Formats: sequence, structure tokens, C-alpha cells
Amino acid sequence: MTVLPIPAPTYTPEYRTFAKRAFETALSKVPAYSTWRRHDPGPSAHIFERYRAMPALTKADLREHQPAKFVPEGRDLASALAKCEVELVKTSGSTSDAVTNVWCQEWWNACEASSWKLHATTASAQLGGHREAILSSPRCVGFASEVGYLSMEQRTLRPYLFLTEKADPAEWSVAFCDRMIEELGQFKPAVLEANPSFLSVLCRHAIKRDREVYQPAVVILTYENPSLVHLKHIRQIFQCPTISSYGGTESGYVFMQCEAGRLHQNVEQCHVDFQPLAPRHGGPMIGRILVTTFHNPWRSLIRFDMGDLVRLAAEPCPCGREEGLTLDAIEGRIANATLSIEGRLVTQCEADAAIARVDGVDQYELVQTGAASVSLRYASDARDPAAIEPELCASLQRCYGSSVKITLGHVQALSPVLGVKYRLTRADFEIDIHDFLVGSP
Ligand SMILES: [Zn+2]
Repeated sequence: MTVLPIPAPTYTPEYRTFAKRAFETALSKVPAYSTWRRHDPGPSAHIFERYRAMPALTKADLREHQPAKFVPEGRDLASALAKCEVELVKTSGSTSDAVTNVWCQEWWNACEASSWKLHATTASAQLGGHREAILSSPRCVGFASEVGYLSMEQRTLRPYLFLTEKADPAEWSVAFCDRMIEELGQFKPAVLEANPSFLSVLCRHAIKRDREVYQPAVVILTYENPSLVHLKHIRQIFQCPTISSYGGTESGYVFMQCEAGRLHQNVEQCHVDFQPLAPRHGGPMIGRILVTTFHNPWRSLIRFDMGDLVRLAAEPCPCGREEGLTLDAIEGRIANATLSIEGRLVTQCEADAAIARVDGVDQYELVQTGAASVSLRYASDARDPAAIEPELCASLQRCYGSSVKITLGHVQALSPVLGVKYRLTRADFEIDIHDFLVGSP
């Protein structure tokens, strides 16, 4: 088998300065990293070698140390909290326990603005102070109300309009979806930021009932890794560019899709270490990423394990952006990975491609129930959903192995886990990524 060389990313001298400063500040002034000092080969080593010598920072580390231990010495967190310069926020992760973060709005805004430079449309749209509609779980952002409905005014926090107060799209009525479409027309946002699973439900509603939908300058997909199924629905309704933005509460904006469809690293804001999987699991082009932020004054974050797998681009991007890592795809969360019957890692992206290939699957949830069995629940807008099942089985067998046992179940609609995010794929057993990285058996 031919193993492709990993393309070496290019970095500016300014980038190296930021990377060095973030690293040295963490090791010399941040209590949470005091035990990391013994791994440091020292200032004579190349800065990226020094990074590589360090362990990965995990969510468990963030929980163990609490926010105060990630603040560099000389900064007074209690005073900044009292003056409301920063606040403490809890993330509502769907695959692990919540983490408390110091939230610095100024840093977050700067991260977002840097990411806009990575796509021609967002770079030229003069964003900042623009109107933005948001469609995601109100348990993540915005205003939730499970009992009654909230008025448009109650869900507006200028310049943002939160389109839904209901966390479960399976319970959205026809009238409720129509309300969202009407509000988009009234509010006329420049940007529609959406969880792709949620937006896909609204788009299916518009497709089925032939509704016209207001066209913003751009749709930005975030919160979840978009499925090809979601993209198919979204692109049927929105003719503007649909851009994937990748990041997290801890890391800020890390990658953004360009007009050529690849994802570029937000080099003004962060460094990304890439750790390839072993060749039989998709390496060296697929691997996990560890993120270091450069400019958050209140949280020193070094080699934070995002819990995701990505696929490197094998060639330079035609858009001309060369700096930092360029990705072909975010392959999905490690927690959403499954295994073929031969034990090969199947990323969410790979399973998704196998399912999306079959026309008529409009929503799904795949659970690997054992080493040689998968169960798939799916919703379909097709007249005769059962008719797609033989093709669905054949496609899953090509992905997982011809003797995999497949259980299919047609449902009306699926709900997000805890009303927060959907998990499109997962195994019923634990998958430890260390068993799949280069150097593992
Ligand atoms: Zn590009």
C-alpha cells in the first residue's frame, strides 16, 4: 500500500512567535502546566518539537484544575469577574461531563472575526454588527421554553434572533416551522448560523410544502459536524454559500471552510498539532487534533484534545490560502466512531457517506451494538421507505463488512440527545483512540 506523505504546513515568523509565547507562558506561569515542564526539551529545540514532547490536555484536566489554574500568574480572575470583564460559563457537552470555562467575549469575537477571513464571502461581507439568526438547541444558546411559546421579541438579543425555543425538532409543528420561515423574512439576517441537524429539519419542511425562504448572505454551519444528508436538504433551500465552521467553547474558532470547500486553520488565533492514525485506520491523512490558543488572556490552552478526527488535504487548496493546516474534512467525533467487523476504525464521515449514498434516508441514528452488528433507525420522506432498505443494507455491508448483522427501523422522526445535539453514529462500547494512533499495535 502506498502511504502518502503528510504535506508540511507553512507558517509565518509571526505565527511562530505567537506559538512560542503561548507555550512558554503556559509552562512558566500557568499552574495547570507545572507538571509538563519536565517534558520540555528546552529553548534550543524547535518550538514545534517542544509542543510534540508534551502530553495532550483533556476535558478531564480542565475539570480537575478548574478555571483559576489556567489563568497566567499576574492576572486577577476574581477582580475581572467582579468587574464583569469575564464570566464563568458551563458547556453542555453531550458526550462527557460539563466543563466550566472563563468566558472572554472580546477574545471570542476576535477569533470569530479572524475565521471570517478564510472564506471569500465572509471576508467581503463586512460582518461585525450584522444581523444574525441562530437555529440551534436553545439548551446550547438562546432562550428555551418547553411549555409555552416565546414571542420574537423575547428571543431577540440584538443583533441576534434565536429562531427556536423548542429543543426537540421532532416536536416542531407545521405552524412552528412556518413561524421560523416568516421570522427569517422579517428579520432579514446577513448570517444564518445553524446546527445542521436542526436546519435540515426546517429545510425538509420547506421542501415538502414548497415554502419560499429568505436568503441570507451566508449560512454558517456549526455545533455539529454536518451530514451529507443535511447538506442535501440545506442546499435545496439556500442558494447562498453554506460554510462549515469548526471550533469549540474552549478553543474558539479553529477551522473554517473556504470557497473551494476545504477547511483552513485559523492561524491568527491558534496552533494545531496533528496526530495521525495508524495506516489501517485511515492514517496518515486521518488523525486527531490538539489545539493551542494564542490570545485568550484568561485561559491558557495548550494541546487541547478536541475529541475529533480530521482528514488532511493531500494537495494545496485552489483558493490559494497556504498557511497552517488545510483539511479535506472534519471526520467526526472520536466518540462517534465505530468499527468494521475486522476492527478497522470507521469515522462518522465514512459511515455517513455510506448512508447518504442511499436516496430517501432523511434522518438517521446508527448504533454499533456489537463487534459484528449495527442498528440503524431512520426517518424518510419517501413514499415507501421500506423500498430503500435493501440498498441501505448493501451500502452498510460495504462499509462494515459483508457479514455484519444489520437491524433497520423506520421511525417518524429522531430527537437530539438530551435536547442538545444529535449523535448520528456511535458504538455501544468504548473506543480508546490511543489504540488507533500511529505507534499503537
Ligand atoms: Zn481553500
